[in-house]
Amino acid sequence: MASPETPTYEILALRYGIFDGRIAAQNYLMPDDHMAPDPLDFLVFAIQGPTGSDNPRTIVMDTGFNPVSAKRRGREILCTPAEALRNADIDSTEVRDVILTHMHWDHAGGMDYFPKAMFHLQESEMEYCTGRCMCQPFLRRPFDVDDVQSAIRALYADRIRFHDGTAEIAPGITLHLIGGHSGGIQSVRVPTKRGWVVLAGDAVHLWGNIRKRNPFPVVVDVARMLRGFEILEALADGPDHIIPGHDPLILKRFPPHNGNKEIVRLDLPPIG
Ligand SMILES: [Zn+2]
Ligand SMILES: [Zn+2]
Repeated sequence: MASPETPTYEILALRYGIFDGRIAAQNYLMPDDHMAPDPLDFLVFAIQGPTGSDNPRTIVMDTGFNPVSAKRRGREILCTPAEALRNADIDSTEVRDVILTHMHWDHAGGMDYFPKAMFHLQESEMEYCTGRCMCQPFLRRPFDVDDVQSAIRALYADRIRFHDGTAEIAPGITLHLIGGHSGGIQSVRVPTKRGWVVLAGDAVHLWGNIRKRNPFPVVVDVARMLRGFEILEALADGPDHIIPGHDPLILKRFPPHNGNKEIVRLDLPPIG
């Protein structure tokens, strides 16, 4: 548990998209039942606090995708990530800090929704998505060149803050380089009233991936992904304190925010 002096934050998970037509074989390297339906949710996360502060701040984790890439890739967008945030009274145009866990299309496709933000990115992720691995169509597939261009434009506008491993970006909130799923994917640890919560991003897509040690098939380095599971477990205060990036159970397991079923509170204990 965090020490009593550590500030605590509220965390929201906000759903903006769904992908129903997915099967287990697409979500596990070794599925029990290849053809079993296994949908994914698309979420952005907001960290707000410290609790009780006179000057609370909002940090957003990931920017989601935009309607153009949703159409191109056949995903259903329920609302834009900016609209999802607005439903929680968060104005994306005023957000000052955005963590990009990695540069995949469904995480870096909404940078334009955050015109005033500083984007926090691992140096190794930028190197990966602009380097020679992108000569391989298989490795390039989860990236969209428009998003990579957005990141480079942000870099030239002094709006990228690079990190090289672990970094504290606000009192108690730390970034952790995990890798495995992408060249330099990072996860985020947040102190809350229920303990240390880790927002895994795509370092863990579904609880089943980490609990069954059965990795998601979009992976650059399987051994590093498995090692990443151990790092995340060491950072979090328990299995329910690790929040996967795409699990539809998130919205079912945590209490809704102000009665909105598309937004849940991750700083509160699970209800199921
Ligand atoms: Zn990803
Ligand atoms: Zn993803």
